[in-house]
Amino acid sequence: MASFDIEQIVAAVRAGAGKADYLPLHEPEFGGNEKAYLLECIDSTFVSSVGQFVSRFESMLASRIGVRHAVACVNGTAALQVCLQAVGVRRDEEVIVPSLTFIATANSISYVGATPHFVDCDPLTLGLDPERLAERLQTIGERSSGGIRNAKTGRRIAAIVPMHTFGHPAKIDGILKVAGDWGLPVVEDAAESLGTSYRGKAAGTFGRVAALSFNGNKIVTTGGGGAILTDDDELARHVKHLTTTAKIPHRWAFDHDEVGYNYRMPNLNAALGCAQLEQLEGFIERKRRIAKHYQQALAGLPGIRFVVEPEHARSNYWLNTLLIDPEFADQRDPLLDALNEAGLMARPAWKLMHRLRMYASCPHGLLDVSEDLEARIVNIPSSATLMPKAAG
Ligand SMILES: *Cc1c(COP(=O)(O)O)cnc(C)c1O
Repeated sequence: MASFDIEQIVAAVRAGAGKADYLPLHEPEFGGNEKAYLLECIDSTFVSSVGQFVSRFESMLASRIGVRHAVACVNGTAALQVCLQAVGVRRDEEVIVPSLTFIATANSISYVGATPHFVDCDPLTLGLDPERLAERLQTIGERSSGGIRNAKTGRRIAAIVPMHTFGHPAKIDGILKVAGDWGLPVVEDAAESLGTSYRGKAAGTFGRVAALSFNGNKIVTTGGGGAILTDDDELARHVKHLTTTAKIPHRWAFDHDEVGYNYRMPNLNAALGCAQLEQLEGFIERKRRIAKHYQQALAGLPGIRFVVEPEHARSNYWLNTLLIDPEFADQRDPLLDALNEAGLMARPAWKLMHRLRMYASCPHGLLDVSEDLEARIVNIPSSATLMPKAAG
């Protein structure tokens, strides 16, 4: 019978990660123009909600991703909330979302007064499963004059929010197909997948609108920050308006035409972001090299597999993930203990959303795949700093 040798796995992760005494899960690196741009920003006195770096950051993002508009904002959670509002999600409606995601995805739905409706994940991509999505809509979806209703709760289903887990694209073709069949807008939670692409198209360009995060642990950081991406000119105008207090432009008058938010990204943060974005290609190249190292170091070890990018995808490998074989799922916690003990920061997946007190009574379909995955996921050190910069 195959055995599960924790010491051997820890040694292999160590071999893939390198020698430092303590390796965090994901640390930022400021090896570019960060200090120069921050000083320039301070000297300009425009450190807050107005300034050149914000529009520079937005246009750098839009052109890197290949989208018409990028609107910077205060964080990824706020970006998601505004995306939902912009596609028409309202109070007492439902939004379909995976249960295997970070809390921000579900919370943003609560912020607009709507209810998350959890659908299962696919075991290869760790993202929303289009087949489970289709089955679920078949079971509870009811076409009515006002849109799609959940026949069980009577509430309107207003949107679908797939998330590209740990930087791997979800089965987005299938998800878009089902969404199209039901006439539901897709909001991509692309917080973890800046720089990821699927069939040559960037994550964040598939839905009607997408949200990014630039939190300190993401592939590119602004300290804290987020962005909204869309090709839709009118939607872009509206989200910019919503995130900037819905103020009507005027030389001196204070006039606002709806309840907007102060969700602006400060110029200081955008200055950091411009310097970070300049390094994105290098970060991705190094992160893909780390993944390759791990893949080689862990090859053939009994009891685990390394999560690799799906077919047709180019993942940013934001986090590197071990998946323990089902028969050794009870070894997850001992493995987490051993890795952390060895100075290799390791973390499980997030507790599933439908198991959290606030979301336990939300509607959901079968979630056996998410439950099985959650019990077996271990994330390991993944900072770009683990690899030297490419020569030249
Ligand atoms: C990081 C993250 C967010 C947004 O996080 P902020 O900290 O608010 O920027 C949203 N969804 C997912 C899946 C994330 O990983």
